Amino acid sequence: MKKQIAILGSTGSIGTQALQVIAEHPDRYEAYALTANNRVEQLIEQARRFRPEAVVIVNPDKYHRLKEALADLPIKVYAGEDALCQIVESGPIDIVLTAMVGYAGLRPTMNAIRAGKAIALANKETLVVAGDLITRLVADCHVPILPVDSEHSAVFQCLEPGNRLEKVILTASGGPFRTYTAEQLATVTKEQALHHPNWHMGAKITIDSASMMNKGFEVMEARWLFGVRPEQIEVVVHPQSVIHSMVQFEDGAVKAQLGVPDMRLPIQYAFSYPERIPLSVERLDFTRFHELTFEKPDTGRFRNLALAYEALHQGGNMPCIVNAANEVVVDAFLHDRITFLGMSDVIERVMQRVSFVARPEYDDYVATDAEARRVAGELVDKGTRTSSFPES
Ligand code: NAD
Ligand code: MG
Repeated sequence: MKKQIAILGSTGSIGTQALQVIAEHPDRYEAYALTANNRVEQLIEQARRFRPEAVVIVNPDKYHRLKEALADLPIKVYAGEDALCQIVESGPIDIVLTAMVGYAGLRPTMNAIRAGKAIALANKETLVVAGDLITRLVADCHVPILPVDSEHSAVFQCLEPGNRLEKVILTASGGPFRTYTAEQLATVTKEQALHHPNWHMGAKITIDSASMMNKGFEVMEARWLFGVRPEQIEVVVHPQSVIHSMVQFEDGAVKAQLGVPDMRLPIQYAFSYPERIPLSVERLDFTRFHELTFEKPDTGRFRNLALAYEALHQGGNMPCIVNAANEVVVDAFLHDRITFLGMSDVIERVMQRVSFVARPEYDDYVATDAEARRVAGELVDKGTRTSSFPES
């Protein structure tokens, strides 16, 4: 029986690579549902090629175009957020790949877990926002979460059943500004930030990688996926991105997973686990890498990483606050409305201003997300008008 896969965010970087994996194994995998936020033409092309049972476009204005373009095929066509949340519950689906970006991933992921679907998790924001809630839900519903994020897939591939981890060591490329001074960071542009040295990804995660918020989020993601305490998670800058991450066991042994940076491998492993199956990614040629280097991350220049650890230590709804503030400032940075370093300033202030909730439930996260977005938006507006932050 072919595994039926729903890809939430099929038009993005992870989504299109997931379709490449499916195309490489038509005997094993089938796209059951494809969804996109806005890019209707790309979704039409994908639907005509992969012939899913259903497609969902979140933006309702694009519904008619989608419906009309697929009228000759037996494909169910839906629009809107609710449809996205409901499609994951369809009976035949085996795996839901969460490859949409941001907080929008939370509700459909919760629905998919409740419906008993295995989750191939790319949308790390779900665990950042509500790691505790998701972990409880996953335990209640007995569904697996298979990591797609390359670092977490690496850790997952190194685990030994029954043997406890002493430490998780997440590698970070350091992004395009790894060697920049604080003065240089003050004037970097979005064009520079969007140029990542080792990975081609969506705009939001590319900015998060440049600001190191991505690594902060990955620390949170590791905390929930592997049940380790924040102090057991270390970040090491490794610019070559050959070692995708490591684990250290209680006897001091360290295991790493290595490979050419290519997201198709962790995507496929989430689909094929526990099996490994052939994949046409480039093979690692060690003679091309004369050195593999490692550095400590500089949380003085990259404050987001420190803020993320701080949020994880505080717990409760603090990571949700950081996530919402970050989504607002990244969007503002992409629209030239805030400077690169201004992003951390706003996030830090939003952390101080939004009401803290120690034991949040779903409704608290919804309220927190809305409040943090409002506060962050106000701070960005204020900063835009005065081009500085007068209260700092
Ligand atoms: P992307 O911007 O390339 O694609 C995002 C996809 O999500 C698109 O299909 C878009 O239509 C859809 N989408 C956007 N907003 C949405 C919304 N509000 N509701 C529903 N769908 C929406 O992003 P990406 O780089 O593919 O990243 C997707 C997720 O995977 C992110 O959470 C990111 O952190 C994570 N991730 C990505 C990579 C990578 O290499 N790209 C690596 C690790 C983790
Ligand atoms: Mg990653």
